[in-house]
Amino acid sequence: MERVSEHIWSIKTWMLIPVRVWIVVDNDGVTLVDAGFPFMAKGILRSIDGLNAGPLQRILLTHGHSDHVGAVKTILASRSVPVYAHRIEIPYMEGDLTYPRRRKPEHNVAKGLAKPLAETPDTGLEKVAGLKPYLTPGHSPGHVAYYHEQDQVLLAGDLFTSKNGKLRKPMAMFTADMEEAVRSSIIVGQLNPQRLEICHGKPVLNPAEQLEEYMKMAHSSSHKGAFL
Ligand SMILES: [Zn+2]
Ligand SMILES: [Zn+2]
Repeated sequence: MERVSEHIWSIKTWMLIPVRVWIVVDNDGVTLVDAGFPFMAKGILRSIDGLNAGPLQRILLTHGHSDHVGAVKTILASRSVPVYAHRIEIPYMEGDLTYPRRRKPEHNVAKGLAKPLAETPDTGLEKVAGLKPYLTPGHSPGHVAYYHEQDQVLLAGDLFTSKNGKLRKPMAMFTADMEEAVRSSIIVGQLNPQRLEICHGKPVLNPAEQLEEYMKMAHSSSHKGAFL
């Protein structure tokens, strides 16, 4: 477990690629952002208990791919907490809709398990546990990034990967719409976080400084083929 900022910790494992989940502490207790692979459940719960920061209150999902929801079932078996994702993402993770560019529907969570994130009247999303959710579609149709305003940390899920401290595109093979994902990256310019946390890569500091370069690189390489 690594301390990211005043209120945030990350837990990392490795399964061909790095996989991270985040623990966010506020006055009410603990919020888990993403739930990795099934085998991570025990370690996640042990880490939460070890923090002594109150009980787990909820699980927030950036999106519904299997490497982000894997431990949900086991965690819920011992902690009765709500699970939230964007309403656009829920039918894909439940298997009612097929993720774009996938051959068949995935049933990554049981039906009715994930609740939609609360929306504000201006079509934004309501803040929860100090985290403001932002819809950032492309990698998946209802992908969300969570911004911790006080700590200035953006938990960006699979909006990016990174290499040597540089922003990189999300993994093409698992990305529904790369051009849309690249467009969604402007969130980094709008929020100007001090630190960007990525599920399958190392964090990136002051990512807004690289945004222009990233956009150029992403656009120039976006026509080289679907999988590279
Ligand atoms: Zn994903
Ligand atoms: Zn992923």
